[in-house]
Amino acid sequence: MTKYVFVTGGVVSGLGKGITASSIALLLKSRGYKVFMQKFDPYINVDPGTMNPIQHGEVFVTYDGCETDLDLGHYERFIDEELNFTSNITSGKIYKSVIDKERHGDYLGATVQMVPHITNEIKNKVYEAGITSGADIVITEIGGTVGDIESQSFIEALRQIQYEKGIENTFFVHCTLVPYIYGSDELKTKPTQNSVRDLRNMGIRPDALVCRAPYNTGDSIKKKLSLFCSVKEENVIDSIDVKNIYEIPINYYNQKIDEIILKQFKLPIKKANLDYWKKLITISDNLKDEIEIALVGKYVELHDAYISVVESLKHAGYKYNTKININWIDSEKLEDSKVNLKEIFKNSKGILVPGGFGSRGIEGKIKAIKYARENNIPFLGICLGMQLSVIEFARNVCGITDASSTEFDPTTKNPIIDLMADQKSIVNMGGTLRLGNYECTLKKGTLAYKDYGTDKVLERHRHRYEFNNKYKDILEEKGMVFSGINEKANLVEIIELPNLKHFIASQFHPEFKSRPTRPHPLFDSFIKASCGK
Ligand code: GLN
Repeated sequence: MTKYVFVTGGVVSGLGKGITASSIALLLKSRGYKVFMQKFDPYINVDPGTMNPIQHGEVFVTYDGCETDLDLGHYERFIDEELNFTSNITSGKIYKSVIDKERHGDYLGATVQMVPHITNEIKNKVYEAGITSGADIVITEIGGTVGDIESQSFIEALRQIQYEKGIENTFFVHCTLVPYIYGSDELKTKPTQNSVRDLRNMGIRPDALVCRAPYNTGDSIKKKLSLFCSVKEENVIDSIDVKNIYEIPINYYNQKIDEIILKQFKLPIKKANLDYWKKLITISDNLKDEIEIALVGKYVELHDAYISVVESLKHAGYKYNTKININWIDSEKLEDSKVNLKEIFKNSKGILVPGGFGSRGIEGKIKAIKYARENNIPFLGICLGMQLSVIEFARNVCGITDASSTEFDPTTKNPIIDLMADQKSIVNMGGTLRLGNYECTLKKGTLAYKDYGTDKVLERHRHRYEFNNKYKDILEEKGMVFSGINEKANLVEIIELPNLKHFIASQFHPEFKSRPTRPHPLFDSFIKASCGK
């Protein structure tokens, strides 16, 4: 029988619920259980694909092409399992499916209501995750904060699941804030008490509290929380602020959260295999060298917009015992003709241009790419970063001075980047990009081939525009190598400039497949080159 762990949040958002859920999943996996993860997001968008990254951060993409909340990236990086369409469900998705069923006549005359129709739909998504994944334990995080209007139907569905499956098969973890008050110099439990009361009003008594606090809460706070919240003292878990998020699973392990869960599930407490993770922490906490990498994007005011890219850089850094400091560069600012690029990039050992949409900041990114190419600075371009590398090369090396993409210059005479015929007829923006895994065949003798050490790879995509093959010969003649191709659709996947130290860019997003203990080959070689190795 599948067991279910539910992770809710109280008091404020941004407590690191996603990392808590991931850490619990990692610990349970390390004890030999098959785990699967999913997140419910209470907003009405059907998926986060059309949301501005400035509001919610990056859109993560699963192998099967689901555009998801960035927490899914944490999940995959921590548990090293590929998640899928059953892993990220929004209220919008739930409502849409219920309304579609109603229109189709599936409810046979019934009045369609929050309970049971919406809640049944939610429960089915939880159960579906258990069935399709074959996991022993499904860990489900509920986005938002308990008490939000939007999340009520989810909480109600969880209450029903507990009733249906029983205490032995469900476990509720409530993440809350225990703030420190200056002046009185103490930690305060009242916000947690209030949020647990909200949860209990909705019929759920949490089995464990994860208390975010600046330092360990100590016995008296734990006693108080236990008494007021009806949670066993040993089930009050400290979650102190850490510099390195990969330490968090070990902090929880030391407080036996996994054992507490397994005991309630009446599952054997098998030996935990955490040596690989402890080794990762020893490495990441003691990096010998450091380098600066320039990240040139247009959403740089919110670092979460590039979270998988940043984590991927870090992962590669661990391999080379090097801390990666990011030089965050707002591409729009580079557009000013007075800007001194030499000054801006003076300490950067590598330049990365990540993905993006729309026309803002484009010329600034092209300037950064030109600077990398002309000064032979290791360069990695991702998705839009690849498209712009091609445009830059066409303009400044091949003399096609008006080369552009129809995304930001619809009437350009030289659409080096353009829509494929199948994209031209699309009217709906949501979920219609080229999404998820596509095969890429690598050309022997290229940097890409060397990086991967194989000739066929699967990589995740999220874009609408493609390289226009009409221009291939001209660019090749001038030295650009098309080292990765999707043969089925004849689409360019990777380009490189072999006459330079390290210049490579991919149409796909390698950052979604990097893992802390297994950096992605393209990030690996980029950091290696940037370190001068
Ligand atoms: N805007 C570009 C496209 O849609 C690139 C997308 C991206 O960088 N993810 O093709």
